[in-house]
Amino acid sequence: MIHHRYPLLFTPLDLGFTQLKNRALMGSMHTGLEEAADGFTRLAAYYAERARAGVGMIITGGIPPNAEAGFGAQLTNEDEVAQHRMITDAVHAADPDVKICMQILHMGSLAPNPQCVAPSAVKSRIGAFKPHELDDAGIEKQLADFAHCAALARKAGYDGVEIIGSAGYLLSTFLVQRTNLRTDQWGGSFDNRMRFVVEAVRRVRQALGNDRILIFRIAAMDMLDEGMAWDEVVQLAQAVQAVGVNIISTHFCWHEAPVPTIATMVPRAAFTEVTGQLRKLLKVPMITSNRINMPAVAEAVLARGDADIVSMARPMLADPELVRKAFEGREDEINTCIACNQACLDHTFGGHRQVSCLVNPRACRETLLNYPRATSPKRIAVVGAGPAGLAYSTVAAQRGHNVTLFDAAAEIGGQFNLAKRIPGKEEFHETLRYYRRMIDLHHVELRLNTPVDADLLKSAGFDEIIVATGIEPRQPALPGIDHPKVIGYIDAIRGRRPVGRRVAIIGAGGIGFDVAELISHAGPSAALDRDVFAREWGIDFKNHPRGGVTGVAPQVQSAGRTITLLQRKTEPVGRSLGKTTGWTHRIMLNRRGVQMQNGVEYLRIDDAGLHTLVNGEPKLFEVDTVIVCAGQVPKRGLFDELQARGIEAKLLGGAFEATELDAKRAIEQASFMAAAV
Ligand code: FAD
Ligand code: NAP
Ligand code: SF4
Repeated sequence: MIHHRYPLLFTPLDLGFTQLKNRALMGSMHTGLEEAADGFTRLAAYYAERARAGVGMIITGGIPPNAEAGFGAQLTNEDEVAQHRMITDAVHAADPDVKICMQILHMGSLAPNPQCVAPSAVKSRIGAFKPHELDDAGIEKQLADFAHCAALARKAGYDGVEIIGSAGYLLSTFLVQRTNLRTDQWGGSFDNRMRFVVEAVRRVRQALGNDRILIFRIAAMDMLDEGMAWDEVVQLAQAVQAVGVNIISTHFCWHEAPVPTIATMVPRAAFTEVTGQLRKLLKVPMITSNRINMPAVAEAVLARGDADIVSMARPMLADPELVRKAFEGREDEINTCIACNQACLDHTFGGHRQVSCLVNPRACRETLLNYPRATSPKRIAVVGAGPAGLAYSTVAAQRGHNVTLFDAAAEIGGQFNLAKRIPGKEEFHETLRYYRRMIDLHHVELRLNTPVDADLLKSAGFDEIIVATGIEPRQPALPGIDHPKVIGYIDAIRGRRPVGRRVAIIGAGGIGFDVAELISHAGPSAALDRDVFAREWGIDFKNHPRGGVTGVAPQVQSAGRTITLLQRKTEPVGRSLGKTTGWTHRIMLNRRGVQMQNGVEYLRIDDAGLHTLVNGEPKLFEVDTVIVCAGQVPKRGLFDELQARGIEAKLLGGAFEATELDAKRAIEQASFMAAAV
């Protein structure tokens, strides 16, 4: 039967010896559970939940084929086969038609392991160790380990394997000259550089058998000046096709390339056209990926002929039921991935922490955080409809509690209503759309335009009171802080007060950076305009220069203001930003000429500007506007009033703790509390 809204997404794909039930793929993500004590039990539950909800195929997080290829989990022996069996059994029990393939990941020079190996002893800019150059015996060992790992994956019940040949991991370092300096049969010409890759694929196919799926992930654009040329990409794709790959999956990165490819400022489906161009030159089906976060986007990608299968990785963390909701026409219930990376990739790359999701703290905690039906429903008041209050109310109501949600403002969202105004953060609208729908679906009584005081709560006689009143901006005690040229970040973002041409921003945390982005920005947001995105990051989608990048200075529009971001700390400005996204903000502001100054002591503000000491030396910033982004303090007026009157209440979100508060912590704390009430 043809699906009326997503006819292509829900069309099966015949691979000859097997069939995918639809074109929705959950792409590979390392979760950190692979290395946890009870990790495989939790992984089994995590993947099974996505299988039950209708995804066509799952690719696991990368599993190294030997010790030097990674840092933790690997698949090298029978004991490990038994662990992986837990995953495949759980997925096939959830739905026998769902395919699950294991990704074989050899990290090469990116393995955080002193034994790491590579074609040449070239240290990656982001690698921890200089790799050992492989000799002939070493090359043979690596190839044999790939094949052995594939045979074990088959034994563990996987429907196939994916080999990652991109991202700066071992296989891709053979392919490009900057990391392959060899002069033997494994280096030099492109035929030689791709020899190891093609041989690894050939041996994996042999070990896997012809009745299992073999996927190869290729960097269709590696975003490196000295990366792969387009004809090399095509040559490699055709070569792996010739040795028995069933599906080719496109990737658009090397981890060290200074171009964002999945962050929230990347337009949706920005790269799929490139997959489409490669698809015309191949016989096997193709997977595309990157910033495809809603079913309509996936369907449009398939309709353009860009790919045969659409990979959605992070969107399956954000909402395990994405595919089922699309199938049932419940798109407005999808908890959309906002591409923030805060609880997923920032955890993976920021010290091997376990992955979860900012908008869905249940992700990777399927056995720990659940929302069972309440046995004795309570009447609950939640004050504050920011992320904390929204998450608490909707989870508690979903469990059957009777929830009234108050907010003084005219709309739900709290500070997310500021965040969504920042160019590049347009996806935050989706989270608010999701919560609006959850409020309706679970019958939360919403009372907007209602500043709450203790009298109101007392007279209504609630069983539980949750105070999620958020924060108040911190006002530094500084002479001249009430000067007319000083404005707070809320007024600056909402456009309530004019911002001059010469601006100093006090405070360079997440909000200082967002304000700098907003007031330095000109023209359409790159997130909404692919041409702007390509120009700003030097990507050439049409001509396919080497690596896909132009190599010339990117063209960035600017509002033409003179802006300085200031902080007191002596560490580099922007260090507190997200591991996987902070660099994009620093680069973009630099390109727009925003100055960044650390080691500042603020003295006073007057008609002349902002007087400071910078590293002990007097310095006057001659500015028209000073914007204060100096952090926040909890807003606890209501809570204090309730306490004074002996009315019991619980604090949540920013009202509980403002220091280092972000939406990830607010939603996570709220979800755990609401699960327990
Ligand atoms: P808030 O969002 O502050 O919500 C509190 C709510 O309580 C408000 O709606 C307020 O109207 C209401 N309220 C207060 N007092 C009363 C009362 N007496 N009666 C009724 N209602 C009341 N975080 C991230 O994780 N990632 C980001 O990228 C990010 N970007 C941001 C960008 C900007 C510009 C800003 C300002 C913040 C950003 N944040 C980000 C931070 C994030 O928005 C906050 O951490 C989060 O909103 C805190 O949630 P909360 O529910 O505790 O408080
Ligand atoms: P923040 O990240 O804690 O930054 C506050 C800034 O104010 C710091 O630069 C701090 O630097 C400065 N400061 C603190 N006290 C000061 C004082 N008394 N006088 C002058 N300066 C002072 O907080 P935020 O920027 O307000 O952001 C709030 C939360 O939202 C953060 O937790 C952040 O993670 C989150 N957020 C996240 C993002 C994101 O993209 N992930 C974006 C926006 C906000 P010095 O002390 O060195 O001066
Ligand atoms: Fe998407 Fe952010 Fe969740 Fe990661 S943490 S899955 S980027 S919403």
